[in-house]
Amino acid sequence: MQAMVDSSWIPSAVGMILIATAIMVLISRHTARVRARVSADAQRVQLLNDIPSELRFRVYERDSYTCQRCGDSRDLLVDFVDDPPADDQVQLRQLITRCVRCTAITRQSGIID
Ligand SMILES: [Zn+2]
Repeated sequence: MQAMVDSSWIPSAVGMILIATAIMVLISRHTARVRARVSADAQRVQLLNDIPSELRFRVYERDSYTCQRCGDSRDLLVDFVDDPPADDQVQLRQLITRCVRCTAITRQSGIID
């Protein structure tokens, strides 16, 4: 008596190549997204570093030296309210005071205040 084995679920060689190709395409797209994000973060940090100290001081003054997300007054940073401006002209209204913790949370979640 011949054993009844259902082999229909085993992918063919062509099927496996298609699956492998699809996985490689997904990995490649993910890598491109991560690279773009790292590049954007580096650009953001560079732009923030380039903010003149006088403008930075005006942001802290306007925001009364408190994080505009949680109200803490320790470990403050100046950050962009939204995405960094396309041009180099950073305006006061584009900047906000946040603490280190809220800056990290805001950037990770993509939340815009
Ligand atoms: Zn905060």
